[in-house]
Amino acid sequence: MQVAIINITYLLASVLFIFGLKGLAHPRTAVRGNLLGALGMLLAIIVTLIDRRIISFDMIIAGLVVGAAIGAVLAVRIQMTAMPQLVALFNGFGGGASVLVAGAALIEAGLLGDVDNLQLTIATVTSGIIGAVTFWGSLVAFGKLQEVISGNAIHFPGQHVLNAVLGAIAVALGVWIVLNPTFVTAYWVLVGVGSILGILLTIPIGGADMPVVIALLNSYSGLAAASTGFVLSNNVLIIAGSLVGASGLILTSIMCKAMNRSLSNVLFGTLGPTEATATADEVYAGKVKSASPEEVAMLFDTARRAVIVPGYGMAVAQAQHAVRDLANLLESRECEVEYAIHPVAGRMPGHMNVLLAEANVEYDKLKEMDDINPTMAQVDVAMVIGANDVVNPVARTDPSSPIAGMPIIDVDKARTVVVVKRSLSPGFAGIPNPLFAADNTLMMFGDGKKAVLELIAALKES
Ligand code: NDP
Repeated sequence: MQVAIINITYLLASVLFIFGLKGLAHPRTAVRGNLLGALGMLLAIIVTLIDRRIISFDMIIAGLVVGAAIGAVLAVRIQMTAMPQLVALFNGFGGGASVLVAGAALIEAGLLGDVDNLQLTIATVTSGIIGAVTFWGSLVAFGKLQEVISGNAIHFPGQHVLNAVLGAIAVALGVWIVLNPTFVTAYWVLVGVGSILGILLTIPIGGADMPVVIALLNSYSGLAAASTGFVLSNNVLIIAGSLVGASGLILTSIMCKAMNRSLSNVLFGTLGPTEATATADEVYAGKVKSASPEEVAMLFDTARRAVIVPGYGMAVAQAQHAVRDLANLLESRECEVEYAIHPVAGRMPGHMNVLLAEANVEYDKLKEMDDINPTMAQVDVAMVIGANDVVNPVARTDPSSPIAGMPIIDVDKARTVVVVKRSLSPGFAGIPNPLFAADNTLMMFGDGKKAVLELIAALKES
């Protein structure tokens, strides 16, 4: 009877996860989705505590206190711009936990003389390999984004061959463990091989591509958790792990599409300027026009339609509240204001949506790239704040450019473009942007927040 209740509650928790994820797909339902997911997790935890078998409450509480303390410190201290590396750490911890739980289950099965269980052994080696790759791959990703280690792609001769050999060794060891499950030491050797593979697979990927890799590692951590679910015969872990595995893969594919790159190009290629890329001098010399906040305020005075294009720099400057105030002021002067959101603006998908939601910008005003682009020629002023690559027209015009084919927001087609950034420095892709030297562009140099506040002051005085 108790087993039936536990499994029905796990099923209910899984249904709540699925509805939670569905809710998260739209900002209007996201809060409810989040609550549904949290409720599912609460149910899963309560039932697991009831079904805790030999583990004492002391151990559980000790684990909860340590985990909650680390999580709380990380969540409070991390900057919004460092969110990708935090996600990398979370993925890594998930992979590491799968490795340890699967290993412990193998040891327990050995002690109980229950190792002739094919589901347990196959799932254990799968958890061990995927979990170890995820843990170490995520730590490397964290280190690169946090600049603890160099963000450059690290290549050496025979790298792919070595990776293939290590992969083959891991699979052979896995098969051997399934056939000889009493030899637990072999499991830890397998974890060691998986760990080296995790490091070697991630070091050749440049910092610029790390967010995509993090989405992929997120998917791996889900697969490791699902495998651990099979180790423990725990249905909710199998379902939740599969959901994470699938959603991580979908996110990876969305990010690759938004950058017009294939996954293999992200994993095995490099992104950045080449010999063919025009230099900053060639693109900018003598052509860049800068404008003061007062001059830009005069432009806005006559504008009837404005579009704001936020990017990574808005996150760095924490300018979202100032941007919202500017939009409110313009709207009070009969100027229609919308926000154009590029799918990979910032450093993670949805980065701009989250920041603007935090500043209480109405969701209806956020327009997706494909919806706003056809109307760009009717825009009086397009204000780009801290965005660079996602508005770089070379993606459309130069097939040899590193970002060739990446869909961009066509701000260059607006009547006037105002770009707010501190200098002419390149964005993530490391290439110059001819938009800054275009005839219809004015550069308003300065920190995003400060510049927008000055613009608001100038508008109020005009
Ligand atoms: P970019 O990285 O292209 O450009 C950001 C710009 O912000 C810089 O040129 C910088 O110029 C400016 N900036 C930095 N700090 C400030 C500040 N305090 N005030 C004002 N401006 C500032 O950003 P985008 O959002 O346009 O593009 C995102 C890039 O990230 C793309 O290349 C995308 O492919 C990549 N990427 C995004 C992912 C995602 O999921 N979002 C995932 C993987 C990659 P300056 O220093 O002169 O101020």
